[in-house]
Amino acid sequence: MTNKTLSQKPCLMPFLLTLLLGLPMSDKDSLINEIVRQLEYFDVEKYLDSRNIEYLSEGKNIKHGWIGMQCLWCDDPSNHLGINLDSKSMNCWRCSAKGTVIKVIMKIERCSLRNVLSLVKEFSNIRHYVDTKDSKDEYLTQRKTTINLPLMSRKELFPAHKQYLEKRGFDPELIFKKYDLSCVGPIGKWKHRLIIPFYSKRRLVTFSSRDITGRAKIPYVHQPENKSILSTKETIYNIDNCKDTIIVVEGVIDAWKIGDNCGATMGIKWTSIQLSILSQFKRVFILFDAEQEAQENAERLCYDLSSSVDYVENLELDEGDPGAMGEEDVKHLRKEVFGKIY
Ligand SMILES: [Zn+2]
Repeated sequence: MTNKTLSQKPCLMPFLLTLLLGLPMSDKDSLINEIVRQLEYFDVEKYLDSRNIEYLSEGKNIKHGWIGMQCLWCDDPSNHLGINLDSKSMNCWRCSAKGTVIKVIMKIERCSLRNVLSLVKEFSNIRHYVDTKDSKDEYLTQRKTTINLPLMSRKELFPAHKQYLEKRGFDPELIFKKYDLSCVGPIGKWKHRLIIPFYSKRRLVTFSSRDITGRAKIPYVHQPENKSILSTKETIYNIDNCKDTIIVVEGVIDAWKIGDNCGATMGIKWTSIQLSILSQFKRVFILFDAEQEAQENAERLCYDLSSSVDYVENLELDEGDPGAMGEEDVKHLRKEVFGKIY
């Protein structure tokens, strides 16, 4: 798979999606992907409140960051169905019910995936997201001071992980070394994932992980906030490799594709902490995905930064995402923004 093939834009999307998932993408798959993408901002409690469904946010058996409600799949007399408010995963401590909150919504509404998407959008908003991520001063004091990468992770590029990076158009060894990645084999919570450390001021502050099989329910799983010095939404990925001018992208794959002086907000919504980090740059270029919602957010980010940054520009792609850009397109972009390729 050469980069040359990738840079032929007209047929990029179908080709790329095949490449990403290893199989032709059906409507259902793309719908699920879209829901998973939106799920991060879904306000579970607000949704359950609107349906008059009772749940507990604290108490016996309820861990921090979880809620417990009566299980919808077994004759649970109590609150054994746990939902993680951050990752949106759920499982019952009594029966085998397990998955993401998508299943819970479908069970409650008896509805289709398309309706799930509109509900997830309805009960999701950036304001709530920013508020919950930013109003935790008290909680911050309980933060970790050191971060441990998963016990099962290895500083060795496994064949499957190598193949995954190759399929995405990268030089695997180069990316693995440059971004200090590690691999997890077939065992444990982080199985079949690439571990992606986040550094800020040369310090490991948290990490994320990318499923390499294309089969995981949640492609990116982050280290939880309470086990991080900074969460993935309290820093900008790759910030230590950015100076004066920054190209802001959505995710780590995009950032790897563009290279130095490119940082990721980890999603199309940003927190005020991220806004304040970006406002310290001289020039900011936003390069989000081509789809409408991403572009609306990019415009808003431009607007919010314009009062404090000398030069802000939203760079719009014709289609797809920066992670799918060909080598020539990246060179062209870097030349335009930085006046040189590297
Ligand atoms: Zn159950």
